[in-house]
This record gives sequence, C-alpha cells and structure tokens, in this order.
Amino acid sequence: MDASADRSGLVRFTADVITRFRDGLDDRAVFPPVDEREVRDALGASMPAVGTAASTVIDDLVRIVEPHVVASAGPRYFGFVTGGSLDAPLCADLLVTGWDQNAFNAVTSPIAAIVEDVAGRWLIDLFGLPAAASFGFVTGGQGANTAGLAAARHHLLASCGWDVEADGMVGAPAITVVASVERHATIDRSLRLLGLGRRCLREVQADANGAIDVDALGAALADVNGPTIVCLQAGNVNTGACDDLARACDVAHRAGAWVHVDGAFGLWAATNPATASLTAGLERADSWATDGHKWLNVPYDCGYVFCSHPEVHRDALSMTAAYLMGSSAAGLRAPSDFVVESSRRARGLATYAALRELGRAGIAEMVERSCRLARLFATRLGAVEGIAIGNDVVLNQVLVCFGNDDRTDAVAAAVQASRECWMGVTTWRGRRYMRISLSGWGTTDTDVDRSVAAVLAAHARV
Ligand SMILES: *Cc1c(COP(=O)(O)O)cnc(C)c1O
Repeated sequence: MDASADRSGLVRFTADVITRFRDGLDDRAVFPPVDEREVRDALGASMPAVGTAASTVIDDLVRIVEPHVVASAGPRYFGFVTGGSLDAPLCADLLVTGWDQNAFNAVTSPIAAIVEDVAGRWLIDLFGLPAAASFGFVTGGQGANTAGLAAARHHLLASCGWDVEADGMVGAPAITVVASVERHATIDRSLRLLGLGRRCLREVQADANGAIDVDALGAALADVNGPTIVCLQAGNVNTGACDDLARACDVAHRAGAWVHVDGAFGLWAATNPATASLTAGLERADSWATDGHKWLNVPYDCGYVFCSHPEVHRDALSMTAAYLMGSSAAGLRAPSDFVVESSRRARGLATYAALRELGRAGIAEMVERSCRLARLFATRLGAVEGIAIGNDVVLNQVLVCFGNDDRTDAVAAAVQASRECWMGVTTWRGRRYMRISLSGWGTTDTDVDRSVAAVLAAHARV
C-alpha cells in the first residue's frame, strides 16, 4: 500500500497502520526475528544528500520496521514489567504528537500545564498520597527516582546549612543512603548522577521474598550519623514483594531520615482493595517514584515523582532565566519546575486519558486481574513435575525454575523462540529463573492457557 502524498492521506495511512497492528497483536509473533544487516541495508547506508517525500519515508519505515516490532503491547508479552497501551492514552498520545505542545511551563503551553495538573492531582488521590504533595511527570522510574532523590539531597543538605545548588557536592556533608540489597539498579544510577556515589550506600538485608528486613534497617540506622536517606521499595522486580512501608517509614523518621519509595509498579497495589495492604503506610514517606508505562498501560515514556514537601521539590529542581518571563504565568503550575527536563512532551494527556478510560474501578480490576493471572501461572506451572515456583506470588511477578540454571535458561530460550509468548530470565538469590510479569491490560485467562501450553511444550522438549 502506498501512502497518499497529501497530509490527510498520510495521517490516515499511519492511523490505519496502527489500527491494523493493534488488531493483529493477538495473532502476530510475540518476538519476531530480525536480521540486523538486512534492516540496515533497507534503512540506507549513509546520510541522504537530498530529501524524500514524506509519504515514501513513512511507507518505507512501515515496510522495513513493522515485521520486526516486538508485540510488547500485546497480551502475551510477560518480559520485564511491561504494560501495553490502552486505547484512550494511545490516541491522546497521538494528539500530543499532532499538537506538538511544549509542556515546559504555562507560557509555552497553558493547556498542557492544566491537563498535567489535573492528572497529577488525580494520581495523588488514587494512591492516597498527602493531598498537598507535589508531582512531576518524568520519563519513567529512573527519572522519578532521580528527581525524588534530588529533593532529598536538597532538603538534607539545606538542613545542615549547605547550599548544594550554589556550592555543589565537593566538601558537602556526607549523606548516607540506607537501602536494601534488593533495591532496583536505577537507584544506584540516580545516586551516581546526584554526586552521592555508590559508596554512600549502606545495604540492609531483605527477607525470604525480598522485602527489607525492618529490624536490620533499624540497626543500620542506629549506626549512621548525619544526613540520611532511606530508600524503600514497593514491588521487587523479581518477586513483587513490597517493603513494610508503615513500619519502615516510622523507623526511618525516628532516625531523622528522608524516606524515598521506589514503587515503579508496586505502588499500583495501593489502587486495588485486595492488594492495598501491601503498601499500607505509603503516605508516610517523603518522596515516591512510580511508572505510568508499566501498570497504568500508557504508552512509553511516562513516569511520576511525588513529594510531600512541595517547596523542597521545587527548590531542588526549578530553574529560572530572564527570558522565561515568570514560569508560573497566570498562576499556573510550571511542569518543568518538578523534573529535570526543560522542553518536554505533554505527558499529562495520556495519563489523564488512561485515568478516565479506566476510572478507579477499572484500575483496581486491571491490577487485581494481573495478580490473579500471576497466581494462575504459578498454580498451573508449579503443579508440573520438574517445575518449581521460586517466589511467594504476592503481586504480579512469578519466578519459575526448571530443575537447574542451564535447563531454566534453555526452556526460556525455547519459549522465546516459539514466538507464542515472551518471558525473560533473571538471577534471584544466586539461581536462574524464568520471570513472568503480568502488567498488560489485555491479558486474559485464554492468554495464560496458551502461554502455559507453550512453556510446558518447551519443558517437555528441552
Ligand atoms: C522498572 C523499574 C524501575 C525503572 O523504571 P523505568 O521506567 O525503566 O525507568 C525502577 N524501579 C523498579 C522497582 C522498577 O521495577
């Protein structure tokens, strides 16, 4: 099919491609093969000297790329922690692209600032965070952890009389970061970027399912002097385990620490009555990070940072320049005051669309269904000779062992090659596991049936 030369034809062609792709997600290979050489040749060897008609560019891109697109938006992709995208946020995001708003502040786009403000307030309500909390729309969990820890750094150093914005980190009072051995790798990168460095970390042991040992946390804090950040986690990326936030926040605050919660996907447990006890006490923390592109099923990229001290959050991250003409024009909140980007995508629209498409009830249902299907995987696979479940399936993550590390890797590779579904592998407590994550809005019992069949076929064959 040729893209029509005119813009209307081209945009319609693109919409048709997207529609056809999404309609076909249930049937296409979940992880199609790709020959790098072939794709590079088709894309062109060198920078083109002259331009090409837009319709030809798009036609070629669809022809070259689409056959190799990973069906992570579909119902049988269980790798990492990956959401698809619901219809309303998908289309809202297409509008964002079409309207091309700069969501930097209320001067560049008042409407982007307003929509983001509404969506941010709804999220605070949904998670049960303090009503006055501030928020920032970022690229994902990594960006949210960095922004939250930047607020922590600003606050702790200011409390010691150190102006980190003016004087930087050289010669600053040392900050200790206490976190469990099970923290996500993005925490370490945020600490590097913030000039705190890996050696500021004091590691605390975790329990059998990977949640922080709160007694060990208390003991570690008793040994620490000076400004301290405690990093907690809701949703262990291997097991789904959530730290006991209520107890851990109390222990940390008694020691005068700032508490940051990395809840990239686990914070969503709070939105479902059946799992809310896992995150009980979350509102006691000082900053929180979570993702939109995981369990909320909005398109990449989208994450959120929240902070219970709005002025600290703004002081840590806002910037100003003469040409900015007052970033809070018309009294509107300036989105970029709470993140590390200046010019930025209007991410608020896709989030607004997802929250409206699902509502509180729909979000709870989606989270609950993911958890139920995770338990179904565990029950079905765990009942088979030679297969063992490696975690307590408290949320949406399932670890599966097929006898020994080599066999587990081989079975996972065979499942991936089957193209029927896709699961990754991980190392947890020194052993290899197939990791199954249920985070897509479209996954049904039938998809679990098909995927269990694919896993059992690989298990029998390997
Ligand atoms: C996925 C994840 C992150 C990183 O999020 P990105 O969106 O990939 O930046 C951080 N922490 C946890 C617990 C995660 O699961």
